[in-house]
Amino acid sequence: MLRLTFLGTGTSQGVPMIGCNCEVCRSHDSRDKRLRSSVMIERFDSAPGKRPADELPQQPAHAMYPRPVGADARIVIDAGPDFRYQMLREGVKTLDAILLTHEHKDHIAGIDDIRAFNYFEGRAVPIYATERVGRAVRKDFDYAFAENRYPGAPEIDLRTIRQNEPFDVAGFHVIPISGRHYLLPVTGYRIGALAYLTDFNGIDDRQLDKLWGVDVLVINALRYEKHISHFTVDEAVEISRRVHARRTYLTHMSHQIGLYADKKDTLPAGVEFAWDGLRIEIE
Ligand SMILES: [Zn+2]
Ligand SMILES: [Zn+2]
Ligand SMILES: [Zn+2]
Repeated sequence: MLRLTFLGTGTSQGVPMIGCNCEVCRSHDSRDKRLRSSVMIERFDSAPGKRPADELPQQPAHAMYPRPVGADARIVIDAGPDFRYQMLREGVKTLDAILLTHEHKDHIAGIDDIRAFNYFEGRAVPIYATERVGRAVRKDFDYAFAENRYPGAPEIDLRTIRQNEPFDVAGFHVIPISGRHYLLPVTGYRIGALAYLTDFNGIDDRQLDKLWGVDVLVINALRYEKHISHFTVDEAVEISRRVHARRTYLTHMSHQIGLYADKKDTLPAGVEFAWDGLRIEIE
């Protein structure tokens, strides 16, 4: 069984946005508070006690969760500026790897905070990225790669992935999905019946084929109006239809998406707005 946890579902600025006085940014609904986008994927080789969907935790985003028990493997996709708080909120104590989608700061700025995992697990954290994204990590965190590394600097085990070559991480079989983020190539990932695409605004048919029949599709939907580098809600829904995803969750949303409570019932069947802390179980 896989368990997907939404660590953050907000666009690069997060929601609320600094200085904004709109009704979404002023909302007290925890589902309108969106940290920078990231997901955690855990695998339970022997399924824990199955809970019906309505018993899934519905705590507000700022509550502390008990530690997820007994996961056999745990990875996250992206480590943005909210990574530290997201790890604390979810009570994460061990992390097998991080997969990166691209090098924008809202997806990599939190890498320095892997130091706790270095310390407690006594090893470098494997970080999987394409060659270009790896170069950006080396540049942005140059002190972690220095010849005489400062003691206490993060220990990063950078591993290069290639566009069309599936790879294995901590027992997960991972299929990279390539897309476009305006002019920047971006990588999504399919792991079993789950796929995670963020910061896409274009994908070609060969890559779409890799998503065919996915059970859970997570896909970025910034807002309703057309955008130069992100799918809109309608574009995300269209991709979901084309690949026949059974359940689709929208992420990387801006405050322009509107209040969760107002908008949650406006999507077609099988498509939902994700929110921070939402957990999905996938057989
Ligand atoms: Zn982003
Ligand atoms: Zn706002
Ligand atoms: Zn981006």
